[in-house]
Amino acid sequence: MLRPANGHKLHTVTHSFAMPSVIRLNRYVKAPYKGVNLTRQNIFRRDNNQCQYCGAHKDLTLDHVIPSSKGGSHSWLNLVTACKRCNAKKGNHTPEEAAMYPTHKPYRPSYALFLRDNSGFGNDWDEYLVR
Ligand SMILES: [Zn+2]
Repeated sequence: MLRPANGHKLHTVTHSFAMPSVIRLNRYVKAPYKGVNLTRQNIFRRDNNQCQYCGAHKDLTLDHVIPSSKGGSHSWLNLVTACKRCNAKKGNHTPEEAAMYPTHKPYRPSYALFLRDNSGFGNDWDEYLVR
């Protein structure tokens, strides 16, 4: 199924086609799903570039919710965005010890979520992307 073109064209040697903004496949050969890479930048993106303790958008760092020294993993489920100030304040403590809890429970984002929130593809994609 082709959605109306967005004004761009695709060119072959002999033809040119209006570029669709969405192409839906009727049949799909399943490929291994890799997911979103666990990187500092992607964690910031998931957390909306916002400290998960005070809401600041500046001086962002990564915080292990459960500190590594206390068995916390380096994973989507234990890493959140924290500003330098909150990270220093929380130090080497668990949320209970520091009485500091992330505003959102850390989660593993889906690739579709990243596309929807960060691609600028626009609303055409909404009905095809699941969270
Ligand atoms: Zn903060």
